[in-house]
Amino acid sequence: MRQLAELGERDVILPGGQADELTGGRADELTSGQADERTGGRAGAPARVAETVVVPLPAGLIVDAPVSAADLFTVDPVGRLATLDAVAASIDACRKCSLGGTRAHSVPGEGNPSAGFVCVGEAPGATEDETGRPFVGRAGKLLESILRAIGFEREDVFICNVLKCRPPSNRDPEPLEVLACSPYLHRQLDLIRPKVILALGRPAAHALLATTGSLGDLRGRVHRYRGIPLVVTYHPAALLRNPNWKRPTWDDVRIARGIYDGEAV
Ligand code: URA
Repeated sequence: MRQLAELGERDVILPGGQADELTGGRADELTSGQADERTGGRAGAPARVAETVVVPLPAGLIVDAPVSAADLFTVDPVGRLATLDAVAASIDACRKCSLGGTRAHSVPGEGNPSAGFVCVGEAPGATEDETGRPFVGRAGKLLESILRAIGFEREDVFICNVLKCRPPSNRDPEPLEVLACSPYLHRQLDLIRPKVILALGRPAAHALLATTGSLGDLRGRVHRYRGIPLVVTYHPAALLRNPNWKRPTWDDVRIARGIYDGEAV
């Protein structure tokens, strides 16, 4: 593999079994989100870690899943949208799952299109559904305070969710909804290419890292999403229920701010 890299090959494509041998089975934990482009967005599902995994050289390998006839002829249009506005328009037209029929407004996300800091939550709630804006209810006010505590105004960062439409009665997102909606999030992050991503709560961490770990397991270390450092912390709504989690959240967001400021990870 090193020799191929020296010869200018960016990627080395291996069947999954071989990559497992080389990565000690860790390949899927590393960058399964990257499999999205190759699988038309199917890699974003939390429980179904993709068969196709991309690890950028020099760190790793591309593990290629068997190519199906559908993969050969299907082009994911979301992956080709050129601007955040185009992604938002596509979300607004989306009917890939039933939430497109029950929402009042889509909530694509908002903020600085070239933000170095991106916050990703779970799904819009009632106020977000009414307004079409993310994190504008009580949890949103708390998120704004958290951001201010680390020196950001809301407009400085980009704020979005895994799901772009409200689940009725604020129920948990269904795996198939996450699967259908994830390509929008991946495309937004590809277009923004922030310095650091803050995943707010377990569903956001699961969707971005294609893992099923507990929040306890996922907090306290810096992950990578397509090479971008990613920090996991509590969802602001959880902090409203349990203020004891504010202290560890402060620790997390300071780590994220440090990465934004260029501290080594
Ligand atoms: N909770 C979220 O996860 N996102 C919002 O936009 C609001 C509340």
